Amino acid sequence: MDKLYTFGKYLKKKFKTKVKKVPISIPGFTCPNIDGSVARGGCVFCENESFSPNFTKERFTLNLNSKENPLLNKQLNALKEQFFATIPLLQKYYGAKKFIVYFQSFTNTYAPLPTLKALYEKALTFPNVVGISIGTRTDSITDETLHYLKELSKEWEIWIEYGIQSSNDETLKRINRGHDFENVKKTILKTKELGLNVCGHLIFGLPGENQEDMLKSVEDSINLGIDSIKFHPLYITDNTLLALDYKKGKFTPISEELYIDTLIKAIKMLPQNISIQRMSAGSQNLLAPEWCRNKSTQMSHIYKALKKAGIKV
Ligand code: SF4
Repeated sequence: MDKLYTFGKYLKKKFKTKVKKVPISIPGFTCPNIDGSVARGGCVFCENESFSPNFTKERFTLNLNSKENPLLNKQLNALKEQFFATIPLLQKYYGAKKFIVYFQSFTNTYAPLPTLKALYEKALTFPNVVGISIGTRTDSITDETLHYLKELSKEWEIWIEYGIQSSNDETLKRINRGHDFENVKKTILKTKELGLNVCGHLIFGLPGENQEDMLKSVEDSINLGIDSIKFHPLYITDNTLLALDYKKGKFTPISEELYIDTLIKAIKMLPQNISIQRMSAGSQNLLAPEWCRNKSTQMSHIYKALKKAGIKV
């Protein structure tokens, strides 16, 4: 890619107006890598209650075959409240005219299908919503859900965001991901066969990885036919297994120089049709790396590097 193709540009071209994602955190949702179905404790960088009893979140007692969900009304209300609280800001600061409801926190396909349908379809009734984007794991989406989403995609903009993180199985074990790259491959190929839009999420700076490993993950992700990509540096927050290792001096976070150099190389590898949804990220409870503390400084360094590398923005 020699001209930066952002997700914003993709949306503008498709909807002829400014479209922004509205992030939503559904109460009660959890993750099979936290609740014991796959593992406990979650990915080493995941902030969850395993590391802080005060990080309490009401969790859904999952029965994936059950039609009953005692939390559903609460979840629908939270969806509505969060959406209507966020859109005025997106309108004011970004001039957004249309919206994609982004089910962001935890694993948003890890619930009985009637619950998922109720939430997704409610989101699609909100004003100026053109679609939904669903963050999830590749081991937590059923064929039934995929086929249902395919039907929805005939009328709406539907995106599935899969956490890939790395294509290296040793790394995936090290970070307690709970699945291997084969699982990622199988699920993404299946999702693409159904014609659904896929965004892949990669992290640079995972324990034990060098630049070659990180760029291999980029190459392997491109080869799966993803439509969009998110990059971010591995940062350490409290209430994570990684924080414990960091405090014991067992883990050194990625430097800004290495992150930006890898990011630029990764962007150059992307074909022009893969949009970029994220080039960095910030966090409220950041412990390290220090350079991740200020997102606007990070972004200005990234834009300088893009310019220097001859990538038009
Ligand atoms: S998949 Fe996501 S929610 Fe689940 S443990 Fe990993 S980071 Fe946390």
